[in-house]
Amino acid sequence: MKKKLKLFYTIFVIVLLLNCITYVKREKKPTLLRVAIVCDTQCIRIRKASAPEPESILATDGFPRYYRGGVYVNGRKYRGLVVLKKIGGKLWAINVLDIEDYLKGVVPEEIGKISPNLMAAARAQAVAARTYAYAHLNKYQELGFDLYATVQDQVYLGENSEDSLINIAIDQTRGEILCYHNKPIEAKYHSTCGGRTADFNDAWPGTAPPYLRSVKCPYCRKSPHFHWRRVYNKRNFFVQLRERIKNLGIKVPKNQSIRDLRIIRNPRSGRIRRFVLTTQTKYYIIPGYEIRGLLGGKQDPGGLLPSSYIYFKSKDENLIIDGWGYGHGVGMCQYGAREMARRGKNYREILHHYYPGTKIVRIY
Ligand SMILES: [Zn+2]
Repeated sequence: MKKKLKLFYTIFVIVLLLNCITYVKREKKPTLLRVAIVCDTQCIRIRKASAPEPESILATDGFPRYYRGGVYVNGRKYRGLVVLKKIGGKLWAINVLDIEDYLKGVVPEEIGKISPNLMAAARAQAVAARTYAYAHLNKYQELGFDLYATVQDQVYLGENSEDSLINIAIDQTRGEILCYHNKPIEAKYHSTCGGRTADFNDAWPGTAPPYLRSVKCPYCRKSPHFHWRRVYNKRNFFVQLRERIKNLGIKVPKNQSIRDLRIIRNPRSGRIRRFVLTTQTKYYIIPGYEIRGLLGGKQDPGGLLPSSYIYFKSKDENLIIDGWGYGHGVGMCQYGAREMARRGKNYREILHHYYPGTKIVRIY
């Protein structure tokens, strides 16, 4: 009897442990994904494929509503099912479709136009975007969907943005995701690294995954974002800094001014790891990834400086910033991936270069 109890207990513990581990498992078909394509609005224009004109659905109408088979939402066509529902009194549209169809509306937005000699870059982007989606299932569980269709997750614009060549590249990598120790990785990617990718902690706090570490990238020199320059008047520069650090909860007392800015670099990636602002009596240590928000100007999308891969130069009244790359710099450099493809590298070589130590696993 005791033996039986022990066996039962052992099986119970094993089942419990298996439930706690989120290892990837083989699936029969692609997972269904719920993507928020319209958020927080009062009115959505819907046109069924067979209808000549769109109809306006208002937040005051009855919900939920379901639309199947090639429906147009605010002028864009979507595959799969579209659900209109109310969240917090506002109107939302959720597109429910399988991951492979979702990728057809993501990869062209992320990797841009391709020619036949760049197929490897599109395949690499497809695997990275599939991995991202797979790793973030249930990300917004409390709101009832998986991903936003914007840069907050991955830009997804539905059927209108599809490209026949890219659709082939997606099919050729069907079901493939990047894994580290048999778990889907955090597949970060960005436009241009500027010659060397960033370490995870150059861009975010927290525990750095071992595969998101800085690697050399001699491939993105042709990117329009490879090198850029900003010129600030020294006085304005420190006034702007003083104003912007309030957003970080730092208030420099009225009778003090910022006198100096010192940079501590990550020696591996060349990016700013920390910087120190000095006033007459105090100093403030700020994480390097905040510098993009502190120094971004009107011309910068989202008010963020293109990257934190920057060097300062003082010239007379001015402070010159020489910068390299565009984006957070972590993981795959998209311009680099395109150039690697042009030079004949395959998508596996591209992915293993930017995500060292990972494995490509087919899950269906
Ligand atoms: Zn690069």
